[in-house]
Amino acid sequence: MTTVDVLKPDFAAQRKHFIFTDEHEQLRESIRRFVINELQPHAEEWEETTFPDWVFERMGELGFLGLDKPEQYGGQGGDYYTALVLAEELVHAHCGGLGMGIAVQTDMAMPPILKFGTEEQKREWLVPAIQGKKILCLGISEPDAGSDVAGIKTRARRDGDEYVIDGSKTFITNGHRAHGIVLVTKTDHEAGYDGFTLFLVPMDLPGVIREKRLEKLGMHASDTALLAFQDVRVPASAVLGQIGKGFYHIMWELQGERLIGAAGSVAGAQHVFDRTLQYAKERTAFGRAIGHFQVTRHKFAEMATKIETARQMVYTTAWRFQHGEYPVREITMAKLHAARIAVEVADECIQIHGGNGYMKEYGIERSWRDLRLNRIGAGTDEIMLDVIGRSYGL
Ligand SMILES: Cc1cc2nc3c(=O)[nH]c(=O)nc-3n(C[C@H](O)[C@H](O)[C@H](O)COP(=O)(O)OP(=O)(O)OC[C@H]3O[C@@H](n4cnc5c(N)ncnc54)[C@H](O)[C@@H]3O)c2cc1C
Repeated sequence: MTTVDVLKPDFAAQRKHFIFTDEHEQLRESIRRFVINELQPHAEEWEETTFPDWVFERMGELGFLGLDKPEQYGGQGGDYYTALVLAEELVHAHCGGLGMGIAVQTDMAMPPILKFGTEEQKREWLVPAIQGKKILCLGISEPDAGSDVAGIKTRARRDGDEYVIDGSKTFITNGHRAHGIVLVTKTDHEAGYDGFTLFLVPMDLPGVIREKRLEKLGMHASDTALLAFQDVRVPASAVLGQIGKGFYHIMWELQGERLIGAAGSVAGAQHVFDRTLQYAKERTAFGRAIGHFQVTRHKFAEMATKIETARQMVYTTAWRFQHGEYPVREITMAKLHAARIAVEVADECIQIHGGNGYMKEYGIERSWRDLRLNRIGAGTDEIMLDVIGRSYGL
């Protein structure tokens, strides 16, 4: 450094993390453009009606549903970071339920088909799902078993060349619109963790009943279903992965679901932070912008620090995931931490908005309601803590 160089803090630097290349940033821009131009204008309406199915088709057309999926199935063949970019940019729709419905398709239902499915299953389900022509959902949770996945009761029993499925699933995102479900069942009650099997079940089969649309605190743009399966007959070719290994398959699936959920939590927190920062610069009280009260400034400093720590955890863990590791402890920590800070940030942002924070018009209360799910869905905080604690042999 020469004496004439005066280094200034680089606050305005593009916030590109080292995992992202210029191509990722270009992808980010094109997704953001699409989200702001084609999705965000409908956000208010879709909070009332749930988002329409054409969103899947349009995103399929643009290649956004298969960013990290192999080209041989119509995907873009990108790395895992492209999936992170999508999850991050979807927050600009300001429609949490939409991001969740898409994530169920791309990061919950598709990965087990890709990893465990037969070539035939990939052609039948994965290819049209990447095109946005078939919508998928994932059925783990039941009225009597959510956290305790091993406690599920949905049963599949062999009958000749077929299986007969009976049971129910609840809280199923995309459950009303889906063409197919990745379904977790018990095939052998005596076999403990080795008694579970996944199935790929078409939702138009006799005996599949979409019972009711569940009403929720937030994520209103998504559809959430209670489903019943009554003597649903599927051929043996509907088994996804290995018979008896469904529990392990679904535990693997949950890792990707949690990591993408963590990325969504961080992006959601950043989004509500940015909106609130703008507000704090414009809103005045006692003759000055509220952001210039030291107490408010410190609130932003606390929030920004929380967001940044969560972001670093997500990116570092994503780097390990991308490099073929199976970092269950770190994924669990990232999911726990990101979900918690997102809810804390959204809550603080309501406070900074004062009465306006409580009003629908400003959309901050909606962010809080939407983000609140992240401490429950894909495994609750308590289950995350248990997984982390057990990983130390406790
Ligand atoms: C909007 C929404 C969308 C969802 N989408 C889907 C979906 O698409 N597919 C799907 O399969 N599921 C979905 N879920 C279900 C979600 O994954 C479950 O709600 C979640 O795993 C918790 O299960 P539970 O609701 O049965 O709670 P429970 O398991 O009944 O837990 C109740 C409370 O007890 C605590 N608890 C339970 N066990 C323990 C323990 N061992 N130690 C300490 N505390 C414990 C929990 O942390 C929680 O606080 C969705 C849920 C919601 C709300």
